[in-house]
Amino acid sequence: MAGMYSESVLQTAIFFETPEEMFTRVFHEFRPRTPIPQVQVRFCKFANANSFVRWDESGLEFRITDVLEGAPAAILESLANILTAKLVRRPVPRIHAERYRRHLNRKEMRRSLQLVKQSRGRKFVSGPKGDAYDLEKMFGELNLAYFQGWMAQPLLGWSRRPSRVMLGHYDPSHNAIILSRLLDSARVPPLAVEYVLFHEMLHLRFPVEHRGARRCVHTREFKDAERQFPRLKEAKLLLKTICS
Ligand SMILES: [Zn+2]
Repeated sequence: MAGMYSESVLQTAIFFETPEEMFTRVFHEFRPRTPIPQVQVRFCKFANANSFVRWDESGLEFRITDVLEGAPAAILESLANILTAKLVRRPVPRIHAERYRRHLNRKEMRRSLQLVKQSRGRKFVSGPKGDAYDLEKMFGELNLAYFQGWMAQPLLGWSRRPSRVMLGHYDPSHNAIILSRLLDSARVPPLAVEYVLFHEMLHLRFPVEHRGARRCVHTREFKDAERQFPRLKEAKLLLKTICS
């Protein structure tokens, strides 16, 4: 054990380079005669894989998606090359462009990017009170009727756009239930709105393993619970009509 420990310390001593040191070195490789500016590397909670660099009198600031925070040094080095090449208007070395693209295309990487996009990209835009329906009031009633009132209220709101594709959505990363704006209309019968909200409450009640995935998972437990809703068929038919 002791041997392993000292070996890893040795490796660290030889290869360890902070992101700032690495980006500074890469900059110097591109511009050996330019005085080295102050370099800052920040990992930011972006909703996508974008990274940026800014160069002004205070120095160079690289802002990188935090999805890459634990990436292998080689990947960060490729990104440093890509961003610096663009900054100094030189072609991006192909080996770096390819290595970086291959990394982003890896399955786990695509999954993390999808997750951050979903959880950060979706901004909570409205409160529970819509033009026609008050989701807070409706939540309270459904909570009493089907969950013995024990369900803690998540954030409730209406989507920005009246989606016909996604009528409702439970977002575990914000603990929010969002209903499509399409349903917030006096022309939509209360039964339809109640059913969509009830359905999303069941997603909160029966969380799925891969939280945040877009796919909506309905286990047998979920479906059994859903059948408590007395006018289920009627509600589903109404939604079909509303969406068509
Ligand atoms: Zn569902």
